[in-house]
Amino acid sequence: MLIGGAWADAAAGETFVCTDPFTNEDWGRVPLAGEADVDRAVRVAHRAFEEGEWRRRPAAFRAAVLRRLGDLIEAQAEQIALTEVRENGKLYAEMYQGAMAFAGDARFFGAMAETVHGYTIDAPLPGFSAWTRREPIGVVAAITPWNTPLNLLGWKLFPALAAGNSVVVKPSEVTPVSTLMIGRLACEAGIPPGVLNIVTGAGATGHALVSHPLVEKIAFTGSGATGAGIGRIAAERHAHVSLELGGKSPNIVFPDADIDAVLQTISSAFFATAGQACNAGSRILVHRDIYHPFAERLAALARSVRWGDPLDPRSQMGPLSSRAQLAKVTSYLDRAREEDLRILAGGGRPDHPGFFVEPTLYADAAADSRILREEIFGPVAILVPFEDEADAIRTANDTRFGLAAGVWTRDLGRAHRMIEAVRAGTVWVNTYRVGSHALPFGGFKESGIGRETGIDALDAYTEVKSVWVKTS
Ligand code: NAD
Repeated sequence: MLIGGAWADAAAGETFVCTDPFTNEDWGRVPLAGEADVDRAVRVAHRAFEEGEWRRRPAAFRAAVLRRLGDLIEAQAEQIALTEVRENGKLYAEMYQGAMAFAGDARFFGAMAETVHGYTIDAPLPGFSAWTRREPIGVVAAITPWNTPLNLLGWKLFPALAAGNSVVVKPSEVTPVSTLMIGRLACEAGIPPGVLNIVTGAGATGHALVSHPLVEKIAFTGSGATGAGIGRIAAERHAHVSLELGGKSPNIVFPDADIDAVLQTISSAFFATAGQACNAGSRILVHRDIYHPFAERLAALARSVRWGDPLDPRSQMGPLSSRAQLAKVTSYLDRAREEDLRILAGGGRPDHPGFFVEPTLYADAAADSRILREEIFGPVAILVPFEDEADAIRTANDTRFGLAAGVWTRDLGRAHRMIEAVRAGTVWVNTYRVGSHALPFGGFKESGIGRETGIDALDAYTEVKSVWVKTS
């Protein structure tokens, strides 16, 4: 682990293993941080913040370090992507593109470091001057999931550092090694000791971190259940908190859409991640007029997906990321059998030692079906027919989530009406899952609290101070 600029084992000497989800073989061993390790990391981060070696430097200095970090990440993108693939089994192309985007995120937030500013208020009362300042918060805990480990780390780490905070990162127990690689590059880029610390472990390590009284801001991405617990702890301690949680996002297909493009985009955006994306378009809402031919073509595409070695460029889908995720997804396949859902494609597990599930497509679910309502986080999508625009809006919004939505139509007026009516943090029209750090990302309803990325992202890592000066 990285604590105070030095590499450390867990004080109790405990470790856990990393397993390759494609070969099902253990390949690494990582320290399992206990409470004492977390306490040490947070105290070191707090001391670094108090001493001010990072936050008191000119913003241009922090900007230069983050840009350098971006360059180091880009130079190592291949190695980083290979490590991520070994950890979470996602396709190399997806992980490599992610690593390059991660380098760009470091530079983007580096540039943002020089834009932090308050504002002046013109003579609020006679005889006073007044203005606001934005200051870093203190120690930030960044907790990340395994599905897109580094990009989701960067969305927390880079704005936190740009604003002058100290950070303690707790990566997922499935993907600790790629995050430790970033720790090494951060030291090389010139981030002072103690400003970035990384503790590795599972839920108990994360719990110790978010419960620590010196942690003033928690930035979390993960499941709704874990997020709810963290939200409660943050409320009790009056800590700042942002939560990026799950989704059950709709793709809404109108009959006037370019159906070839819809089929291609929906299926590749979905299966390329084996459905393990928070914004996966796992509910496919199709107008009744085109429902049956559309279902047949999408099922044929799902059946044709080439699943296999995530390092093989011919593979279109890799395995699930962990044994635990495999157990979770197969429990939903069992559930679908109990609910008697119509299977259009897949529905089982291929004979392979890796954690594979077949690309699966269901139809004819009852309104209260768990397959329709819950986030599965596997290559399992469900088709739902709708009658008209009003019915599409009702069905799209009939969920406790609100992370993303896709709208497919050539009718400009309808596209605009849908953009307004669908309750989701991102709406894509005639595309799906494109992204950039230039836009905010986050969810409505149970998909989260707060936004990451975009030009306001640094606000979430600063406190506002109002200043009054008597002038006469
Ligand atoms: P998870 O909630 O199981 O774990 C996320 C992180 O929290 C891990 O680092 C884990 O070790 C840690 N953790 C677990 N219990 C904890 C506790 N009690 N206290 C503190 N930390 C704890 O989620 P996961 O399975 O790793 O990730 C998948 C989930 O993440 C899905 O629900 C997915 O939708 C969500 N996700 C959301 C976004 C988004 O931006 N909205 C992006 C990617 C993934």
